[in-house]
Formats: sequence, C-alpha cells, structure tokens
Amino acid sequence: MLEIKNLHAEVEGNKILRGIDLTINAGEIHAIMGPNGSGKSTLSYVLAGKDDYEITEGEILFNGENVLEMEPHERAAVGLFLAMQYPIEIPGVANMTFLKTALNAQRVARGEGELKTPDFMKKVKELSAKLNVTQEMLRRPLNVGFSGGEKKRNEILQMALLEPKLCILDETDSGLDIDALRIVSDGVNALKSPERSMLVITHYQRLLNYIVPDVVHVMYQGKIVKSGDKDLALQLEEKGYAEFTGEAAA
Ligand code: ADP
Ligand code: MG
Ligand code: MG
Repeated sequence: MLEIKNLHAEVEGNKILRGIDLTINAGEIHAIMGPNGSGKSTLSYVLAGKDDYEITEGEILFNGENVLEMEPHERAAVGLFLAMQYPIEIPGVANMTFLKTALNAQRVARGEGELKTPDFMKKVKELSAKLNVTQEMLRRPLNVGFSGGEKKRNEILQMALLEPKLCILDETDSGLDIDALRIVSDGVNALKSPERSMLVITHYQRLLNYIVPDVVHVMYQGKIVKSGDKDLALQLEEKGYAEFTGEAAA
C-alpha cells in the first residue's frame, strides 16, 4: 500500500530525513518510535504534503501512485490521513462545518455525491458519542480552546468520519490520561480492517498495549535504525534509546 524509498527531506536547508525506507502492506499496523527530534513528525508532514519540506531524494508510492506529485487534498482523496501531533486551531470555522466540508470534498473528489445533511448528522452523532466529543465541541470553532485531549479525540473523530486507507497518528497519545487513551485507542481499533493500514508514531510503549502493532521501527537522526515485532517496543521501554544514540543508559 505505502512504499517509501530512500526518502530524504530538508527544512530550510537542514537535512531532517536521511534515507527512509518503509513498506506498509494493507491491513498492517506499523509503529515508529524514537527520541525527540528524530524526524518522526517531519515524516508524517511529508506524507501529508505540508509545505516547507523539500524532498531532495527518494520516492513515496501509495497504491502505486506517486504521492510526491499530489497536492495535500489529492492525498486525502486517495485515502491518506494525518492525525497531527499539534492539531491546528481555525478560529473562523465551526468544527461541524469543517468535518462536513472535509468529508464532502473527499466524496466529490472520489466521484461519490455529497452526503445529505441528515445522513451526515447521524454519522457524526454516532461517532462523536463513541469518542466522547460533545455537541458543544462540534459547535465550537475547530480546536479553539480545546484541551490537548479534546484536540486528539477530535482528530480521531475526523479520521473515523473520513475512513482513510492509511491512518497516520502522530503522538496521538501524548497528553492523554488513561481514560482518554482508552477512548482514542478504541476509536482507532474500531477502524482496523484488512484494507486499512496504520502508522502509529509514539514516544511511549503504553499506547501499543492498546493498538497492537505488527511491526515496530526505531527512528533516529532521520533514519530507521531498527525494525522488529511488538516486543521491540517493550525492550525500548526498558532500555531506552541508548543503543542507538550512543549515550549510556540512565
Ligand atoms: P520528532 O517528531 O521525532 O520529535 P521532528 O520531525 O519534529 O522530530 O523534528 C526533527 C528535527 O527537525 C528536529 O531537530 C527539529 O528541530 C527539526 N525541524 C523540524 N521542523 C523544522 C523547521 N520548520 N525548521 C527547522 N528545523 C526543523
Ligand atoms: Mg517530538
Ligand atoms: Mg514529533
């Protein structure tokens, strides 16, 4: 489904990604762990098509299509979704309006018609109840005044509504208490399917007890330096990243 080959990316002349190779098949859940500043968020932004990043080498294929030639909205239309580490606030746009616009834009891009308002409302109500997103949060401007946890739950609501083929979750667990973590994980797990893949970026092994990965990768200094099964996350939790950073373990 996703094939990243020898990907190099820079921001303002700083080399951040230095040769990423990653293949994710349909239905697989991959986790990326790694110390702060490794380039995890940069990889997620490059996948989503955020400006500011210059791709200097390599390619990204999504179901055989060249992602790097697509605009962000085209990437969304083919089924890429990024739940951001720091969700953006949009003061002028009600959350509900944003959700409806995003969903309908995608449906139209795929040649499906817009969803009728009552059908949309029904769907949002169902999903928001499961994710503990209140009616008030739906009426408010997107993410404005939302707590960290509310922003993360709202990202998962967007994801559940858009039903992407590849879900990228960038530190969706950070700032969540244990109850919110359970709600978010349940929401993500409800989306698991043989046709859908997930790329879960996290600092903490804890999340991976809830969202169990098929493959765990360690990223350090813009490269994937080790890959393994879910036990690798447990080892990292125990030993830290010293093996990769060359620093003595604490
Ligand atoms: P992670 O998500 O693994 O913590 P990031 O992808 O956020 O890492 O950052 C990787 C590196 O790139 C860091 O050293 C960070 O300072 C640098 N970086 C990220 N964005 C920018 C930017 N816009 N300008 C300059 N440096 C950046
Ligand atoms: Mg970070
Ligand atoms: Mg990050």
